[in-house]
Amino acid sequence: MVGVREDWRRQEWRRGTHECVRHVGVRLFALALLAAVSASAEFRAGAAKTVVTPDLDKHGPIYLAGFGNNRRATGVHDDLYARCLAIAASKRPVVFCGVDSIGLFHDDVKRVREGFDADIVVAAMHDHESPDTMGLWGQAQGKSGISEAYNTFVVDQIRSAVKSAIDGLQPARARLAKTHDPELDTFIDDDRPPIVHDSEVIALSITRADGTPVGTLVNWANHPETLGSKNTLLTADYPASLYKTLEEKLGGVAVFMNGAVGGMQSPLGSKLPGLKDNTFEKANFIGKRVAEMAAAAVKEGRPVEIDGTYFVERMVHIPVANPGFQLAAKADLYKGRKPVNADGTSSAPVGVVRLLERGQPVLEIALIPGELYPELSVGGIVKYDGADFPDAPFEPAIKRDLMSAPYRMLFGLADDEIGYIIPKVEWDNQAPWLNGASKRWYGEVNSVGPEAAPIITGALKELLKP
Ligand SMILES: [Zn+2]
Repeated sequence: MVGVREDWRRQEWRRGTHECVRHVGVRLFALALLAAVSASAEFRAGAAKTVVTPDLDKHGPIYLAGFGNNRRATGVHDDLYARCLAIAASKRPVVFCGVDSIGLFHDDVKRVREGFDADIVVAAMHDHESPDTMGLWGQAQGKSGISEAYNTFVVDQIRSAVKSAIDGLQPARARLAKTHDPELDTFIDDDRPPIVHDSEVIALSITRADGTPVGTLVNWANHPETLGSKNTLLTADYPASLYKTLEEKLGGVAVFMNGAVGGMQSPLGSKLPGLKDNTFEKANFIGKRVAEMAAAAVKEGRPVEIDGTYFVERMVHIPVANPGFQLAAKADLYKGRKPVNADGTSSAPVGVVRLLERGQPVLEIALIPGELYPELSVGGIVKYDGADFPDAPFEPAIKRDLMSAPYRMLFGLADDEIGYIIPKVEWDNQAPWLNGASKRWYGEVNSVGPEAAPIITGALKELLKP
């Protein structure tokens, strides 16, 4: 499944050159050229944001995503955004775009990427108070909630942010930071064992050579669903105040990338003193605190001299075992997106980005096409009584076992959204239920199947080889 282009890149990497060569068609020529390019390449960066709030008249009716059917948007509390950070250590930039959206299928991501000479990562925030761009939460069960006019608008607005970020590339300096303050865990409730959070905040902050801010990318993991299922106002949820606070503290454009949000990483069950559930106050508090901690970490962060970037992506093919997913495809809820292949699989991208300092990875980023259970990121898989596949081997934990760089990010819903990615040994679609539970655990109903985790971690094991 490794494409030719990917082979080239892997070999460039192994030879110690510092950039991917997708845009160069002849390998020998590329190798001769590369040494010169990377030696003289200067680190550059640019950032931009565009609004993706729907026009309720023009794009409507807009159904809010993430809970039940027929939750129609009645107004706007705060704007939704596409926020992009472009970085380049050679001719070909890498662009990271975070979008206040429930999820964007790879079909729409491909439309974003069309025609750009750049490696573009588009990750949805998984915002449960944003329009249904996936089709699962329409007027009634079996009716798609997608507004094609809105999806097209989102794609166009992301493209516009990508273009502005690339056009704005200027000589820049980078700083990396991380913090794992215990307060971060108090914002997350996990209602399915094992209780694991991937709650570290990792930040990449960029300024121009003269110190003026370009932007800061923050990676953390929690469902943006603080407002719950009764709210009908469009909002970015906690990321709204995260952006605002981060931009106040550090300037430039704030970009957020959500992480391993699976099974279940949610503010809904978290109890915060003095803050009522399902309120904007609670959402604001969470976003503000995460941004304050990120900004403080950046001030103490490590300046890095980025002299190379690396991007690789591979399509994987996962058997669709979930009858609900098969029905949704048959009912065309996704409106032509996410086709089931002739062999019963669904295809999704898995990828890796590396930023290099003196040729060595200083930041590694895993690109995960869905909602990863955090034990698949930081470790902590448990074999419980009642498991459907008690003999399944434990998958490697991506950040813990597969990465080696001092800074490690994991972007969930990156370039696709296939639902929950559950460790195979924790898969539980048949009674008896895990850990002696009296009823079915929540999770499998929103997962493509038990092979998702082994296939995705298997691909990453290859892609993350040093
Ligand atoms: Zn979710």
